[in-house]
Amino acid sequence: MNEQTSTDVSGNPAAGRATRFDLARPDEPGTPKIDSALARNRAFAAAGGHEGAVVFPNLRLFVITCLDPRVDPAHFLGLHLSDAMVVRNVGGRVTQEVINDVAFIAQITENVIPDGPMFEVAVIHHTQCGAGALADATFRRRYAERIGADEADLRDHAVLDPAATVMSDVERLCSAPAISQRVAVSGHVYDVLTGLVQTIIPARHKNSESAPAPATPDEVQTGAASS
Ligand SMILES: [Zn+2]
Repeated sequence: MNEQTSTDVSGNPAAGRATRFDLARPDEPGTPKIDSALARNRAFAAAGGHEGAVVFPNLRLFVITCLDPRVDPAHFLGLHLSDAMVVRNVGGRVTQEVINDVAFIAQITENVIPDGPMFEVAVIHHTQCGAGALADATFRRRYAERIGADEADLRDHAVLDPAATVMSDVERLCSAPAISQRVAVSGHVYDVLTGLVQTIIPARHKNSESAPAPATPDEVQTGAASS
């Protein structure tokens, strides 16, 4: 690749050694447009791609991951429409807003599945994450001023060691009072160079080391009486 295009997202030469990546292909014109995506939408609808979609995800899965375009779970997890709920933010961090989202879905799900495991939340951080820029003091200070946030809080959002941050975020979810014990939580790291996901923390519930897998759609639909 052209070395001139290799940079880090902070714009600071001293920042983000762990986050160095190519911002764009050298041969891309770089003009932002939704037109090509809308053309793909027409083809999607014409082919009936939206048909058969359901609200509650087929895999009983809730994915929290980074908004980095290299880290699209539809691709690296092979997710199809209706397979999973997905929340993406900078770094794939478990913020209070994300905890609230999981709690919301759990409350909705309680009406559908009154007992037993509901769904699994998979927190997936990744290598070369741009959120590493928040470890740089200059970048962090400018960003804190821009959004009116506490700079000290932002430091905790940096992702330099994805295995470490995913462990702390799984713990944050498991210790959140708003999260039901019927929700399983797991932690993983996606390697953007190999394309592989490594599990750091297998699915667990609050106050337990491991957890049974959430019920499959067949199990939910047929119930125990038919088995
Ligand atoms: Zn990232």
